[in-house]
Amino acid sequence: MEGTVDRLVDEVTPDVVAWRRHLHAHPELSFQETETSRFVAEKLAALDLEVTRPSGTSVVARLVGGRSGPTLAIRADMDALPIQEDTGLPFASENPGVMHACGHDGHTSILLGAATVLAGMREHLPGEIRFLFEPGEEALPGGAAGMVEAGVVDGVDTVIGLHLWAPLPLGTVTVRPGRLLAACDVFRIEVRGRGGHIGVPQDAVDPIAIGARVVSALQHIVAREVDPQEPAIVGVTGFHAGGSVGIIPATAEITGGTNMFSPEVQDLLERRIGEIAAGVCATHGATCEYEYVRGYRAIVNDAATTASIDRVARRAFGDDAVVTGRPLMVGEDFSAFAERAPACFVLLGAGNDDPGIVREHHHPRFDIDEAALPMGVGLFAHAAIEILTEGAREDVRATT
Ligand code: MN
Repeated sequence: MEGTVDRLVDEVTPDVVAWRRHLHAHPELSFQETETSRFVAEKLAALDLEVTRPSGTSVVARLVGGRSGPTLAIRADMDALPIQEDTGLPFASENPGVMHACGHDGHTSILLGAATVLAGMREHLPGEIRFLFEPGEEALPGGAAGMVEAGVVDGVDTVIGLHLWAPLPLGTVTVRPGRLLAACDVFRIEVRGRGGHIGVPQDAVDPIAIGARVVSALQHIVAREVDPQEPAIVGVTGFHAGGSVGIIPATAEITGGTNMFSPEVQDLLERRIGEIAAGVCATHGATCEYEYVRGYRAIVNDAATTASIDRVARRAFGDDAVVTGRPLMVGEDFSAFAERAPACFVLLGAGNDDPGIVREHHHPRFDIDEAALPMGVGLFAHAAIEILTEGAREDVRATT
């Protein structure tokens, strides 16, 4: 079956590259993936798969194998970002101010490629595969939650997914058991003082000076209150107040985000940011309004599923290509699927030393090396066969 997969991957690669370029030229923002999801649904229907649209712009296709076995879900995200592309690529974005700057065009094409390969050998496959095309990964609350609510992972035994990762060189893949990507939350603090004349500060309560103290006081949480063995970030990324020289404004708005793995650390950050902001404000005669919104949960890879992917990746790309890497503090809502079934998410190297290619995701000149696309297709196809076959074997053992 291995040889057949590799041949089918080779055959579909020109299409996968063409799909990626088409999607790259026509990016759509989170939850607005109308044309993208139509494109995806058409390609899947042409493979004679059962295609549904369970929530908003999501697309799900079901492939039923020739004999009984477990159910595997494979996920890709489809949305782009509000960035003006500056790559100069011949297939650069035709939508002003919108760009596939995170590689989701590649993810969608890879999963369409894997669906094509696996559909071509369905009679030899046990069980069922669900191809999950998710909208809105880039914007809270994320598209995964709605899909989970619509039941797309009901009855699913295993979930897998990948992210093209440009900081990682082409030809390598991070396969890591346990913690991989952090949880990410957002917060907003409004410091409420009293506006007035710059020349009469004694009659005002200056929310800018007080807000600046809040920002520095928040650094204390990670420095002194979080277990040093536990990674945590409290980042202030916005501070908006005032506008005119000579006027002390009445309010200042501070916005930011937190990242962590541990639920205890998450509770601590949520509580302490609010307490410190309120305390600093009270010290200086101001009040504050505090809002903390929990975002994506952490991705913690299941050991057994990760071991399967590790085996498959070593077989497909060689031992040197597979690295364990380190946990990253960025968030991804694959976690919403991963909480419902044993799961593994991998990072697929897409970096290229071409000086014109910037390796930072979400950058106006971000790009991927397209040679990563067939690797992704192969990884998903081989992983699907491995996981379904193993599961079917266990089913047989369980019933005999
Ligand atoms: Mn992404």
